[in-house]
Amino acid sequence: MKPSVLFKRSLKQNLNALKMRLFPMNKPVCRHDPESIMVFVTNRCNFKCNTCPFTNTSPWSPPDNVPDMPVDLFRSIINKYSGAKILGLVGGEPLLHPNLNEMITIAASKKIAVNISTNGSLLTERKTRQLLDLPLTSLNISVDAVNEDEFKRLRGGDSKTYQTVVTNAARFGEIKKKKNKNMSFKLSFVTDSQNLFRIPEYFDLARSVSADTVFCQSVLSYECSSVTAGESVLWDTPENRNFLQSLKTPDDITFIPPLLTAQTDKNNTTTSCVHPFKILATDGAGNVSPCCVIPPHNRFGNFYNDIIIWRKGAALRKIRSEMLENKPASESICLNCWERFSMQPDKKQ
Ligand code: SF4
Repeated sequence: MKPSVLFKRSLKQNLNALKMRLFPMNKPVCRHDPESIMVFVTNRCNFKCNTCPFTNTSPWSPPDNVPDMPVDLFRSIINKYSGAKILGLVGGEPLLHPNLNEMITIAASKKIAVNISTNGSLLTERKTRQLLDLPLTSLNISVDAVNEDEFKRLRGGDSKTYQTVVTNAARFGEIKKKKNKNMSFKLSFVTDSQNLFRIPEYFDLARSVSADTVFCQSVLSYECSSVTAGESVLWDTPENRNFLQSLKTPDDITFIPPLLTAQTDKNNTTTSCVHPFKILATDGAGNVSPCCVIPPHNRFGNFYNDIIIWRKGAALRKIRSEMLENKPASESICLNCWERFSMQPDKKQ
């Protein structure tokens, strides 16, 4: 680790990084803090995207009536796990949370890098200026599409909604540039077997709104719409692999390519994913989740019952044991997930 990085982090973050190196992630109880925290600050959303289990019924939908994240609970979680380096504020639509600005300030005071992921529709000029005055590390707009038809396929809504998102993104990019604000501005795109070929157009859109990063997130198999049913999955086929390898990535845009999902023998029901050892995800009811893919749910435990649940809660221990001992995955979504073998990348096929 470079000495300059050590000084940018808090003592607790440096100690946590050391613990993660000294104690390999080979036990179901974690002695370290998570590397990143993902807070679903609200489950409410003004969109009803075809890819989202929050607004469409899916086997992985979150429980009903989850409240917005209370600031007190948020503060307790951040204080307890302040060894984390990164915080993602997500939803639902996080800009709907009335105390979002306060949460950004709390996390940044612990030297945690704060990222927001928004659908961009509520990013008015006033909100843009507010966010740019806060200690944000990055803002991601989930644009998903380079034209209205593709937006409709993935997100629903109408052409006006797509135009609003692109206009808001352009204004954010412009004001950020004028303020010379040092933060990352990303556009993200849900990428599936139908739109993989559009990636070069994503670079053009990013450039036109002064975004610095294009993040392609592979579609997830939530089974809540035709988009998230099996046929859209971005499998690790020679064709998809060759396409990604042949892409000419631009010098002026950082490109985070989609992850291809390993195609394995159907009888292989195991998974070995690193997320449950590195990511803490939670919602406004204090429910937890083993990763950023499965919405928080009380079947994994709840912070109101036990604030150290992420380290040794029974449900998370069980999932980590499955990952370590090659047992069948109790969460079947893992079997179609691109992170399925992230603990053992050599097992990817
Ligand atoms: S394999 Fe995917 S769904 Fe399963 S724990 Fe990992 S990230 Fe979550």
